Amino acid sequence: MSRPLSTLHLVLISVLLVSLFCAIGRYLLHLLVQQGRLEAEIARWLAISWLGLLGLLTGSFWLINHFLVSGRLMALAERETQRGRKIVEAAADAIITFDSLGRIESFNAAASRLFGYSPQEVLGQPISKLIVAEESSNQVEALVQEEVPTGSGRVLPDNTLFKGRHKDGHLIAIELGVSKMIDEDRKVFVQIIRDLSERQQAEKQRQLQYEVALHLNNARDLREASPAVLQAIGRALAWPVGLLWELDTAQNVLRCQAGWTNLERGRPLIESLSKAQLYIGEGLPGRVWLHHNYRWIDRLESEPSLPGQQLAINAGLHAAIALPMELGQQFLGVVEFYAPQIPPPNPALLNNLYPVLMQISQFIRRRWDEAALRRAKEAAEAASKAKSEFISSISHEVRTPLHGIIGLTEILLAGPLSEKQREYLQLVQTSSEMLLRLINDMLDFGKLEAARMTLEAVPFELRKTLEPNLKTFAVQAEQKGLVFRAEISEEIPAWLIGDPLRLQQVIVNLVGNALKFTAQGEIVLTLNVASRTEQAIVLRGAVRDTGIGIPSDQLDAIFDAFRQVDSSRTRKYGGTGLGLTIASRLVNLMKGRIWVESTPGQGSTFHFTVGLHVCDPPAPQKETIPTLGEFPNWTSPPPNPLLTGKRILVAEDNPVNRMVLQLILESRQHQVVWAKNGLEAVQRFHDSPVDLILMDLQLPEMDGIEATRLILKASERLQRPTCVIGLTAHAEDEDRRRCLEAGMTHFLIKPIQPAELLQIIDEVLTTLVGRGNQLHGSLAN
Ligand code: ADP
Repeated sequence: MSRPLSTLHLVLISVLLVSLFCAIGRYLLHLLVQQGRLEAEIARWLAISWLGLLGLLTGSFWLINHFLVSGRLMALAERETQRGRKIVEAAADAIITFDSLGRIESFNAAASRLFGYSPQEVLGQPISKLIVAEESSNQVEALVQEEVPTGSGRVLPDNTLFKGRHKDGHLIAIELGVSKMIDEDRKVFVQIIRDLSERQQAEKQRQLQYEVALHLNNARDLREASPAVLQAIGRALAWPVGLLWELDTAQNVLRCQAGWTNLERGRPLIESLSKAQLYIGEGLPGRVWLHHNYRWIDRLESEPSLPGQQLAINAGLHAAIALPMELGQQFLGVVEFYAPQIPPPNPALLNNLYPVLMQISQFIRRRWDEAALRRAKEAAEAASKAKSEFISSISHEVRTPLHGIIGLTEILLAGPLSEKQREYLQLVQTSSEMLLRLINDMLDFGKLEAARMTLEAVPFELRKTLEPNLKTFAVQAEQKGLVFRAEISEEIPAWLIGDPLRLQQVIVNLVGNALKFTAQGEIVLTLNVASRTEQAIVLRGAVRDTGIGIPSDQLDAIFDAFRQVDSSRTRKYGGTGLGLTIASRLVNLMKGRIWVESTPGQGSTFHFTVGLHVCDPPAPQKETIPTLGEFPNWTSPPPNPLLTGKRILVAEDNPVNRMVLQLILESRQHQVVWAKNGLEAVQRFHDSPVDLILMDLQLPEMDGIEATRLILKASERLQRPTCVIGLTAHAEDEDRRRCLEAGMTHFLIKPIQPAELLQIIDEVLTTLVGRGNQLHGSLAN
């Protein structure tokens, strides 16, 4: 829009135009007078009239212009004023103007919303009606009165924090700035106010969430976390008594986990409720559980009976609120608060509490999940324990009759038999031995599965340990027309520390498989040093055969439990598929690994490593428990006739075992003194001297370990040196340890091999004879 001309411009233009037209008029009249066409007098009158006409025209123009321009200006000013008003009304911030006496002159819509007053209610009222008269708010009046002169007209900077008072009395956090302006020669102050309560609310909310998260994080369980969590919520919302109820899913009741109060008089209520348990629908928490929604009571007095109600009223707590803790559809518990009064819960409050309740709910669910996991783990462990106990006891139960079968078969085979009878009996023997191997594998596997297998760490001589096994392998290979070779590197130190029996077991299994799956060619066992430090050594072993081999897709699977290459092999070669699993787990326990290379039709090589320790040869000491080896035919005559006819005390309760032992011992003309339990064994030892004791570990009344302890104590006292050989159906490592600790010199696992037993008896008697002990057997006497 073009701007109207200014007064100065109009004056100048008017003067210029009037002067110009005057000059032109006068010049034309002068010409006419000179030409004599007009009289001078008339010309003068015409000039004056011309001037008057010009004046009249200019004046009219002036007047018309004046009215036009000022009208336009006024309309413009009016529009601007309207626009300004609209802007002020539409402003998001409250804008209030007041005069130098602090009387409110204008009050926009945002101010009405913020303070709850209509403009009519506050116009002319002092500004202090809206701003709380605290130390800081006096600043406004002070600043206004002092009329602080500032260049920009600003008397109070923005972002100054104050409190405002709402019409209903509650305080509002506000931020304000005051500016000064001159209006119609008067000072007017403009106050722009911003509502901070939402921002502060959000800040409080963040703080509360942070505190709750911190308490939950630092606590082991809900009971530990609850008081601090309740305190954080209670303080934030000015609710002085809080209780946290957790659902007990097993009993289907709500149990109070903890209570918190900062009111001394609130304690009886906490004490009474903290022991309570509520069923669904019972009390405020029970109602929350029933309806899956919050419950609020503004006057406890008007409620029908509620648990703790009277105690709450006595403590001046007249209102209560309870909120559910839920995740999805799953109800987990309730948070309950009491206060002197609680305003009706508005959506803002519920929205604020929601994230906090979610935090607690997630904590509860995590703990529930952990507890469920723990229970499942315990159940699995218990099941696994039960399984291995079952396997162990079954193996014991099977071993006992096997003891009888193997022993009696061996005895029968030693006597005169027809060809057919011998053949049948040998089948019985092989079947019993297979059964025994299976039982032993099952037992080992059960222990490995239950992680109950512990390894020994004892000094042993590697070559001497393996010697009997190597001999057996050679004999077995020869029987199948195979060649067996063992190459044990000279670099391997003579004495090592580790578990000799378990190392033997790995090698026996690998060579046993090689023998089983090879029809012709050779089997080579090699043992080398893979790496070594001063203290430790890693042995690398390999068992190479020229047997049927293993398909490449089965090379990993054969180490899994009960896995065999295919069923046709199973039919042909038998086996359980446990041997390699046990070998690989044992090797892992020895910090090593096992793997295989194989070409079907050409043969396989099983490699393994085991970590052991190196040690110096120990000084000669107490005999260690002998390892299983090959025993000569037990029916052949003893190497030394002095080792027959001794007096041997045998503690054994099973009649079949007694019969077998009797037959074995009688083969050497030993004289047997029987005891049916541990107590009787001790008695018999005191009754008369014996040369040797065979002690079953599992005896009624007093077990073999206890009886051995008592007997060896007595033997020291009576100066009657005695050797005790333990017999047990349990092939557990702990049994070996217990035997050694009790003072036994040897230990045999049932079923007893007659040759093995006789060889050990011979060894013991030889030692006793060598020491010059006085023996008590009939021949020695
Ligand atoms: P088992 O021999 O009792 O079946 P193992 O765990 O010792 O159980 O062996 C698993 C399977 O691996 C065997 O059934 C056999 O198929 C295969 N296997 C093991 N050793 C050899 C070998 N030296 N040659 C060929 N196959 C073998």
